[in-house]
Amino acid sequence: MADPIRIGLVYPQLLGTYGDRGNAEVLAWRLRRRGHAATVVELPAPDPIPAGLDAYMLGGGEDLNQAVAVKLLLGRQGRGLRAALAGGVPALAVCGSLQLLGETYLDAAGRRVPGLRVLDLETVASGPRCVGEVVAQMPDGTLLTGFENHGGRTRLGSGAEPLARVLHGHGNNGDDGTEGVRHGNLLATYLHGPVLARNPGLADWIATVLLERRGDGPELEPIDPDPGQLLHDARLRAAGFDQLGGRRIRGRLRRRLEARRRGAA
Ligand code: GLN
Repeated sequence: MADPIRIGLVYPQLLGTYGDRGNAEVLAWRLRRRGHAATVVELPAPDPIPAGLDAYMLGGGEDLNQAVAVKLLLGRQGRGLRAALAGGVPALAVCGSLQLLGETYLDAAGRRVPGLRVLDLETVASGPRCVGEVVAQMPDGTLLTGFENHGGRTRLGSGAEPLARVLHGHGNNGDDGTEGVRHGNLLATYLHGPVLARNPGLADWIATVLLERRGDGPELEPIDPDPGQLLHDARLRAAGFDQLGGRRIRGRLRRRLEARRRGAA
């Protein structure tokens, strides 16, 4: 029998705001439901991160925790993670982890925190925090739903590929319409939720890449009923969006929500 799939949860005490550890749990659950043995491997700080896991999940972090994490990950403790990312192991980085994988983060206290330079982006904390529900659309039309809460505003480099376009909320910076970034098999996003619980399509994309890399059957059976899909649809409806075909059907409601958000900002 094949070794169980191992999903690494990177430094959960430092990088785990808003239940982001749920991303690892949800990914493991969706794999198990399809008959694949899968386990979440906690990788506590300040231990070295081993290379050789099947996927890595990195959650959000407050500025101070983020600075501690990035210092470790830039050092010998991060060697395994850096090698895994360079080798195309699928990974998900949320919020503070999106920021720490970039070039630099100028934090809310004005400290310049160097990043791992895996992603072509820079972040500066400025203005009011970006807080609230987000709806974004991936290039294939898939809608993403999530919750954001960040002070950092991120600019992608010219060659970086956004994960999605913002339809509602702020995303990377609140003005250029980009949300997250995709760099090969590394997905980075500002969306909490946890994002893989709310977006089964994203979870299954990671699961498929992971299974293909192991040489296991890549065909994922549908989960029926799928609690992830029910949650996805419910959160989209709550934000005034329909899930079908990535179309907005309740434009007037969406415009009212936007106006209310602008009024509250
Ligand atoms: N420290 C970052 C910011 O506020 C990230 C916050 C988070 O991960 N939720 O921009």
